[in-house]
Amino acid sequence: MTEKTCGGCTACCHTIPVPEINVGAYQGCPHECRPPAAQIGCGIYSTRPRSCAAWNCQWLAEPEWGDRYRPDRCGVVVDVLLDTFGLRDETTGKFVEKPAMQFWVERGHEDDWLDPDSPVQDLIRSACAHAPGMGVLWRTYDPVHGQSCRAFYVDEQGRSVSIDGGPPTRTPRPERERTMLALELMGRARK
Ligand code: SF4
Ligand code: SF4
Repeated sequence: MTEKTCGGCTACCHTIPVPEINVGAYQGCPHECRPPAAQIGCGIYSTRPRSCAAWNCQWLAEPEWGDRYRPDRCGVVVDVLLDTFGLRDETTGKFVEKPAMQFWVERGHEDDWLDPDSPVQDLIRSACAHAPGMGVLWRTYDPVHGQSCRAFYVDEQGRSVSIDGGPPTRTPRPERERTMLALELMGRARK
């Protein structure tokens, strides 16, 4: 199969943070060239930050995901790095953390999870089925409220659950630690 390329997509350049150049999530990188620019892509490609050079979205990594799931077409950039989200266990009252795939939602697609015809429905289902206990963090941004987050997961009774997760940084751990914890939780759930 031919290796995928970004083509005309630049979705991660206006959703994902790039700390090396002080670009926060959803701030939009000043080097991103979007239509109507003649050349679409990175304006500093040969000298782009290391994190950009190392970055791949899940769509690029998944040979089975067709064109309709390309981030600029479906409106969601699926991160290859996992995160976690917290829940209060209804039975024990304890706070539990779950691993989650991060979905960085482009502006204008915030409510696509409600649309039964949207390709993101497949992506959410596939993410939740990826491993036992796996969920989705649906990250969004609007200029009034800033970043916010919703979580999707399948509970122990097999019910699909959607919760308004509040601010995305509620878990008081650095990002790298959350990724490591998510991997550990996923490994534990598989045993
Ligand atoms: S979101 Fe994926 S396909 Fe789009 S520009 Fe970024 S890495 Fe490429
Ligand atoms: S530096 Fe280039 S690759 Fe990195 S976010 Fe900006 S436009 Fe995208």
